[in-house]
Amino acid sequence: MKYIGAHVSAAGGVENAVKNAVDIGANGFALFTKNQRQWRAKPLSEKSIKKFKEYMQIHGFCADAILPHDSYLINLGHPESEKREKSLNAFIDEARRVEALGLKYLNFHPGSHLKKISEEECLDLISENVNKALKETESCIFVIETTAGQGSNLGYKFEHLAYIIDKIEDKSRIGVCIDTAHIFAAGYDIRTKDAYEKTMQEFDEIIGFKYLKGMHINDSKAKFASRVDRHHSLGKGEIGLDAFKFIMQDKRIDNIPLILETIEPEIWAEEIKLLRSFDV
Ligand SMILES: [Zn+2]
Ligand SMILES: [Zn+2]
Repeated sequence: MKYIGAHVSAAGGVENAVKNAVDIGANGFALFTKNQRQWRAKPLSEKSIKKFKEYMQIHGFCADAILPHDSYLINLGHPESEKREKSLNAFIDEARRVEALGLKYLNFHPGSHLKKISEEECLDLISENVNKALKETESCIFVIETTAGQGSNLGYKFEHLAYIIDKIEDKSRIGVCIDTAHIFAAGYDIRTKDAYEKTMQEFDEIIGFKYLKGMHINDSKAKFASRVDRHHSLGKGEIGLDAFKFIMQDKRIDNIPLILETIEPEIWAEEIKLLRSFDV
């Protein structure tokens, strides 16, 4: 079973995300549970939580198919302790929101060293903070996303994610999300069957498919190994459609949310149909 959807808008209340997912024919989706560009957020209202759960049930969505994304402001590896603390608190709040909604996952970007500390020191801080967040929450599984490695962002090598996972105390509550545009820009090729298999084998050896909890399905405007993060609509970028066929036909990628973050929301319904047509 493939859960396919997009990162839909939750404007006006998280419950609206469910309706927006239904409108594009999705059977999974991603959302922000608060404004992703602001630190502060009102707690989710009881009414909103109730409606969200109700809509989820009515439309047949299960928690396994939903991949909430945290705020872009959070940097768990921030070199300054005050800002790191602020990030950790916001991160814990996001995880609690996920739990209140009856969801399982919180997708996050590892963090950035801002050229002030080494990669290793930054990865240590990230693991430390995820361990703290695990203690402050009940059940949320933290899902680290692969990145393009733009600027000083870590997570552009599978080894970075493996390093973090290695230091996590409760490994049942840590996972990863592969973003196709990001890994491609980071130098992992998926354009041909051979390249795809080689990349996925590397992923399995270094991280392991058992940690794969979701994927972001994006083509890339940025060139291979450019370390630039620019998404594109499927088949219109540098990756091309074949990679998405390989993914849809890969049984190792069943039962996890496959989320479009492509740049034309008006064609998400068509892109979902296209992906489904590859799943034969
Ligand atoms: Zn992301
Ligand atoms: Zn992504």
